[in-house]
Amino acid sequence: MYKVCLVVPGWHYWANPSRIQPLYELYFATLIEEKLAEEVEVSIVDTRGLRQDQRLFHIPKKDLYIYWIPKTGDYTWTRKLVAELKQSYPMAKHAAGGTHIDIFPDESMKDFDAVMVGPGEGSLLSLIKDAQQNTLQKLYRSDYKDFPFGDFSFMRRHFLPETAIVNSLLFEKYGKNIRSTCVLFSRGCAFRCKFCVYNVPSMVQMRSPKSMLEEIQYLKSEYHIDAINLKDEICIPVSRTIAVEYMEAIGRGKVSWRGQTTVLGITEEKMALAKKTGCVELAIGVESASQQVLDIINKGITLDQVRGFINLARKYDIRIKMCLVFGLPGEPENIVNLTKAFVEETNPDYVSLSGLDPIPGSDIYNNYKEYGIKYIDQDWEKHAHLMFRFSDYEEVGLPFEYELSNKWGKTFSREKLAENTRIMQRYLREQNKTY
Ligand code: SF4
Repeated sequence: MYKVCLVVPGWHYWANPSRIQPLYELYFATLIEEKLAEEVEVSIVDTRGLRQDQRLFHIPKKDLYIYWIPKTGDYTWTRKLVAELKQSYPMAKHAAGGTHIDIFPDESMKDFDAVMVGPGEGSLLSLIKDAQQNTLQKLYRSDYKDFPFGDFSFMRRHFLPETAIVNSLLFEKYGKNIRSTCVLFSRGCAFRCKFCVYNVPSMVQMRSPKSMLEEIQYLKSEYHIDAINLKDEICIPVSRTIAVEYMEAIGRGKVSWRGQTTVLGITEEKMALAKKTGCVELAIGVESASQQVLDIINKGITLDQVRGFINLARKYDIRIKMCLVFGLPGEPENIVNLTKAFVEETNPDYVSLSGLDPIPGSDIYNNYKEYGIKYIDQDWEKHAHLMFRFSDYEEVGLPFEYELSNKWGKTFSREKLAENTRIMQRYLREQNKTY
């Protein structure tokens, strides 16, 4: 039997990488098992939490290793692992896909035997067949529009031990032993925020309400799950019809849920339905308390819309986690005080504050000079999409620097950017608003 192994990277930039689950690895393992069961044995190796010098001991010999790398911060880590595995198992092949590979296919082809550009569904199956026949190609390219997420089965979790699937941390604010896990009911995002690369594909691909409900029922019967954390980019769809179908499906599953969403398109009807279907918390991508910054990054929202969303959530007793980013272009000199004032005024239950990473592939990265950025570090290990988010120690480096000024005025130095973030983090901790 040909042996294929999906490797979960270390996610070294997070304080606790085990909080969330490796959804894409589970999804692709399910696909391979379903489509190639008779000829391929598939497994997942989870390297999260392993020390760098120990990880090799935990990876058994296989014919083909697959890496899905949506985040630039995982690239160098993975590249080094591949080099080590090639020493230990010289006959094995290594293939990678994910957003970082989409952005840098040529560079990636030097480090991997094969790369996938675009979605993994079609490429993975072709690539495995080619690898079996020793006809592996360097590049497999496909288009998201040809592979709707909803056409594929929901991810099964049996590839990993239960401890990697279920924890009580995701809903720790709501009770001591709430068994919870992450799910993905849609992929993609149609918005175009200038700092983001997580809008892949640049359209929303929904799973069917039937498949969503089946997954919840599976999680309840196999894992006794009480609550789910939706990892969809937008968990309350902007379209009313889709939002109603989507939330009603979750409601039929009878679990508590939380997720991240946009403030755009919210209505009282949608918020009431969220509550009725088990929603306890919504994270909203506000990004900045400065309207100028929101306009520069093409967020497409106003601070008044944020106020309206929070008021509505409060009316329906849904907690709000406000997601903010410091270091975005166009921040006024008083950004710290402005942000504190906005947090005090709107009083979200929680605030998640990150330092900006001009992520490769984002408009800010591609056109950095237009934003007054002097340089962006090309050491991928210094890139993490959320810096300083959980603690002062969660720093992988501030991988860029502004010119002294840009078209919006004076900018912050690297030191001042890091200091602003730390001052605000401390303030939020004192207010008991972080988690
Ligand atoms: S920040 Fe959120 S809303 Fe904006 S493009 Fe990215 S995923 Fe979409």
